[in-house]
Amino acid sequence: MPELPEVQALVEFLGERTSGLVVTGVELGSISVLKTFTPPPQALVGAPVDGVSRHGKFIDIDCGGTHLVFHLARAGWLRWSDAMPATVLRPGKSPIALRVRFDDASGFDLTEAGTKKRLALYVVRDPLDVPGIATLGPDPLDEAFTIDVLASILQQAGRAQVKGVLRHQGTIAGIGNAYSDELLHAARMSPYLPASSITGERLEALYDAIRTVLGEAVERSRGLAAADLKGEKKSNLAVHGRTGLPCPVCGDTVREVSFADSSLQYCPTCQTGGKPLADRRMSRLLK
Ligand SMILES: [Zn+2]
Repeated sequence: MPELPEVQALVEFLGERTSGLVVTGVELGSISVLKTFTPPPQALVGAPVDGVSRHGKFIDIDCGGTHLVFHLARAGWLRWSDAMPATVLRPGKSPIALRVRFDDASGFDLTEAGTKKRLALYVVRDPLDVPGIATLGPDPLDEAFTIDVLASILQQAGRAQVKGVLRHQGTIAGIGNAYSDELLHAARMSPYLPASSITGERLEALYDAIRTVLGEAVERSRGLAAADLKGEKKSNLAVHGRTGLPCPVCGDTVREVSFADSSLQYCPTCQTGGKPLADRRMSRLLK
């Protein structure tokens, strides 16, 4: 799933490619991805692209005051083409959810792999009409996101586990499963640590990790073509998705805790004093 750094890079990529262009076609391959009724997607046709921006993990293309907003969810992706195929997309079982065309023959497809369709598309006059945007927490790379802001977020979260707090979009915008694993590894912190216990040096370590890990990922992703972003993200992760592989910092074996529809990865030596975390699924299996 693309998170803040990849979405930011996509926004910059789209902003450059679509600057000065006019939308000439909007085709839906899947009706269920569209979450709004008015204005209709056809309202975008004929409109100039005035800018592309990011709200958390949402991408917002401002087309003459009508906004095309989308969230790529877990298995969604954007495929840019300098020369779009002439075939008109029709609603059906296509992995392509949306096709947008511009007046220089370029355009993009939003695709979604897998059976669970979570990709979400909105056509709105105001981005704040998108419920997921209206409720977003502060952006961790925004200047206003100071260490005091993080401290107050953690105190308000009380005994909730820090991993969940970092991922919750209404608390902090843009961080998902992968980067929360990475931030906690960089901060040498257990994902199960109660949020309100993070003060003093730990707070500083977590704040630094957020700014450094996300900031560096944005820098690495910047300027890459949409097609190259996925590989770039994967090749630079220290623990996320690396169960069984050596930790790049200490060499210990990266471990995993599984949940119903996700998993987290961590390094015991770097993060939990060498102790493996309880894995409820594993212990259930052993009973
Ligand atoms: Zn380690």
